[in-house]
Amino acid sequence: MIVVMRSGCSKADVQHVVKLIQELGLKDHVIEGTDRTVVAAIGDKRHLDMGAIENAPMVDRMVPILAPYKVASREVSPEPSVIPMGQGATVGGKKIAVIAGPCSVESEKQVIEVAQKVKAAGADALRGGAFKPRTNPYDFQGLGEEGLKLLAKARDETGLAVVTELMSIDQVDMVAEYADVLQIGTRNMHNFNLLMAAGKTDRTVLLKRGWSATLAEFLLAAEYIINEGNKNVILCERGIRTHESYVRNTLPLAIIPAIKRESHLPIVIDPSQGTGHSYMVPAMSRAAVAAGADGLIIEVHPDPQHALTDGGQSITPDQFSDLMDSLRQIAPAVDRTV
Ligand code: PEP
Ligand code: MN
Repeated sequence: MIVVMRSGCSKADVQHVVKLIQELGLKDHVIEGTDRTVVAAIGDKRHLDMGAIENAPMVDRMVPILAPYKVASREVSPEPSVIPMGQGATVGGKKIAVIAGPCSVESEKQVIEVAQKVKAAGADALRGGAFKPRTNPYDFQGLGEEGLKLLAKARDETGLAVVTELMSIDQVDMVAEYADVLQIGTRNMHNFNLLMAAGKTDRTVLLKRGWSATLAEFLLAAEYIINEGNKNVILCERGIRTHESYVRNTLPLAIIPAIKRESHLPIVIDPSQGTGHSYMVPAMSRAAVAAGADGLIIEVHPDPQHALTDGGQSITPDQFSDLMDSLRQIAPAVDRTV
């Protein structure tokens, strides 16, 4: 249920409604819009009398939330959310956020070099996995805490926010200590305990869509994070599994307008995992921006042929710089900047 407050209501009026919601054993979620404040009451209301709330001072009306997802839905928050990524960068505003860097942190030289080059080309944040979710247990698993330290060093040198993957609950404190944004990977989208643990931190979460998850399941996963008190969630489409084999994953860009309709959360596209081929990355990045994406997360490696992970889908810093130039031409056509 959404409680729509009258314009001009005071903070005390809102707090009174919050208290009534909590007294009914429901979760409250206050959204202050430019025009109106609304308070969502989340939980099972079937046997509750909501009359007291309807009659509270400065309550305009109560509207049921129809979508299965609540706090992630556009019904609850009609205005798009601008989410902080750390280091002054945001995603969801007019400026398209570009997150770039290697698939995995491999060495100090590699990560610092990429960070400096993507920063010079105009990136807003640095990506890089220290803990890698590998399908094959004999593949490189990441440098662990050492990798996190190298990412923090790259942040110190460039001012870029750091986006890195969190794979399990026992890593939450360690990863949150070094990272600005916690990435939850496609394989963990359904790991509800991990989602809740990330929701208890004060770090922004970049949530990737499970490779076989529906849009509704994706938004419900985001809801697990928000319900723990962390409103800073960025959605990321990284491709889904289909029968098609000439790409690693099929990248469904139609999710961009769909998310814009269904949710207030920003949507970022990963054309690297989304295609699996570096030659496809520039075209799909441009298509994503043209389709209204709020950001991109792109794998960039100084020497893709010797990358320890995902070299085939990684572009070079020079290719990234050219891509940024072309995005600067496309963004104004959709009323955005890069
Ligand atoms: C990655 O970003 O390198 C990664 C492993 O992503 P995903 O979870 O989308 O496979
Ligand atoms: Mn990768």
